[in-house]
Amino acid sequence: MARAVVTGGAGFLGSHLCEALLDRDIEVLCLDNFLTGTPANVAHLMERPGFRLVRADVTDYIHVPGPVDFVLHFASPASPIDYAELPIATMKVGSIGTLHSLGLAKEKEARFLLASTSETYGDPLVHPQPETYWGNVNPVGPRGVYDEAKRFAEALTSAYRRTHGVDTAIVRIFNTYGPRMRPFDGRAIPTFIRQALAGEPITVAGDGSQTRSVCYVSDLVEGLIRFLLSAEPGPMNIGNPYEIPVLELAQRIVELTGSSSVIDFIPRPEDDPTVRQPDIALARRALGWEPQVALDDGLKRTIDWFAEHPEVAGARS
Ligand code: NAD
Repeated sequence: MARAVVTGGAGFLGSHLCEALLDRDIEVLCLDNFLTGTPANVAHLMERPGFRLVRADVTDYIHVPGPVDFVLHFASPASPIDYAELPIATMKVGSIGTLHSLGLAKEKEARFLLASTSETYGDPLVHPQPETYWGNVNPVGPRGVYDEAKRFAEALTSAYRRTHGVDTAIVRIFNTYGPRMRPFDGRAIPTFIRQALAGEPITVAGDGSQTRSVCYVSDLVEGLIRFLLSAEPGPMNIGNPYEIPVLELAQRIVELTGSSSVIDFIPRPEDDPTVRQPDIALARRALGWEPQVALDDGLKRTIDWFAEHPEVAGARS
């Protein structure tokens, strides 16, 4: 049986990923310090054979006895509110945490998958963004801590590949949504759903004409697993090219929840990207992958989950 180590496995994406690995008969050791994740996200996996959760801060050290076939480095605060509150932890996990995760992959001769991000493209001047685009990032702006940590992580991963021959893969994940997001993490979809379900005004930044391309989590995870099990190095974009203005996204959510919420326009955050859309030609060609879940279906599943978990919707963190 193959064995994977997932850092950040108790987070939103990590928890879905752990589940998908177990479904493919891959044992999972989940390492997490619960900074922005929670054991509750993987509570349903605790009884499954082959799953283990260990509380660990991957910026301290990583020690894993026994063989490891895959190292998936997903630990990092990921929402703008989180990395604004945790700027140094974000830079440490992107740099030192990536160094330790790569060290583990080197020691175990494992394939390494880095969770990078579309944020490496910054406020893009090329649209849609292909992997060959180098980005437009402000290193000293409020988002710089996240964007630059991920850019550093990509550079370090590439150095381990070139210098130590580690079998590495870099995925640039575009905005993903689904069950187990946190209602107060500041990302558009969980914020709008929380507000719509509570009948509160929906807070749209600016005039809402800025666009986002959002991918449902099951589509993303399928792409990640295919990439992991391939020999491709990346960087590879995984995301949904379907692009929608933020205002329309808010309106879809109001409609799907049957809410009486009104739209409230608030100031745009600094360095908020104007457009975002993945060019997924590489993933289509190399992995035969493309998203399957339509926006309304994914939104409905996410709304249902939030409605079924009022304790989460009411929690501030
Ligand atoms: P999340 O905050 O839900 O998950 C991150 C997890 O990492 C949490 O469980 C947290 O406790 C853990 N963590 C943070 N620092 C740690 C440390 N030092 N040691 C051990 N664990 C630590 O975020 P997410 O949305 O699931 O994102 C997961 C990964 O995917 C991140 O690396 C993020 O940058 C990347 N990503 C996510 C998206 C998205 O749309 N969700 C988009 C692009 C990239």
